[in-house]
Amino acid sequence: MSTTNLRALAAKAKDGVSVNDGEIAFLLDVARTRPADLLPHAREIRLHHLGTKVGLCAIINAKSGRCGEDCAFCRQSAHYGTDSPEYPLVDRETVLKAAQTMRRGGAGRFAVVTSGKAPNAQELERIADMLADIKAAGLAADASLGLLDAEALARLQRAGMSGYHHNLETSRSFFPSICTTHAYDEDTDCVRRAVSAGLHVCSGGIFGLGESWEDRVEMALELKSLGVHSIPVNFLMPFEGTPLERQARLLPDEALAVIAVYRFLLPDKHIRICGGRESTLGHDRKKEVHMAGASGLMIGDYLTSKGSDMGDDRREIEDLGLEPDKG
Ligand code: SF4
Repeated sequence: MSTTNLRALAAKAKDGVSVNDGEIAFLLDVARTRPADLLPHAREIRLHHLGTKVGLCAIINAKSGRCGEDCAFCRQSAHYGTDSPEYPLVDRETVLKAAQTMRRGGAGRFAVVTSGKAPNAQELERIADMLADIKAAGLAADASLGLLDAEALARLQRAGMSGYHHNLETSRSFFPSICTTHAYDEDTDCVRRAVSAGLHVCSGGIFGLGESWEDRVEMALELKSLGVHSIPVNFLMPFEGTPLERQARLLPDEALAVIAVYRFLLPDKHIRICGGRESTLGHDRKKEVHMAGASGLMIGDYLTSKGSDMGDDRREIEDLGLEPDKG
């Protein structure tokens, strides 16, 4: 197969035409054998649909650790002996202060994230106040609070929530190897409820869990059928004490190929690169996510680990002729 085929697939993606099974097999063959060939085409698709802006978002880990779920990658699961930070829901002032700091750093969206399957009624009311504050501070107020029902989503929407984040984490086929405490359908149902509520829905996953390329495609197609707006891409950080502590990190070329393949499969969606980009790509190569089709970046710290310097992230974007944006 020649680059002409990639060019033809990129043209289809620019026209918003879905790639068929044979074309997906071709894309995966390129991803496995000559991943760098995907990148210029993925970048072109991204520029066509989303222009030069790179949406910056940030989070606060507002309640950490002691989670009853058993996600194999997660340092916050109570099933494993990790050194995760553990604390109950932080206060309103802490969240507002963090949101203001991240706004000054360039973020346009700010999410309150809590560990656990879902917050209780009292926590939900406190989070509603936090979201109202974030909105008043001039940011899009987002949340990632686990498996919320329609009533809880509506309550937070009334308070000012603009987006909801809930990852599928991996494909339906691979999910039982990663989490056994809830069903994949509970995740897809939650995402569906958030989409139906008219929220900006951010849903994606973690790569490098031991999943195959076919699993990656399966999740991309699931996200496409759910109609999510934005796809967070995380790369596994193997935390000590978790079942995946010895999992090898993805090689940089493979990680970039994941972003590029997602750009072909979800051509007009925001693909936001989040946790693990520094440790997987290294300091010198982390900017290459922008050459692989990414259109957004989480800045600041992640849930339980340090992120990059925000000024560095913005400079890298500008050096590539792109524009940091609040989207
Ligand atoms: S990923 Fe979320 S639900 Fe899973 S163990 Fe971690 S905090 Fe709990």
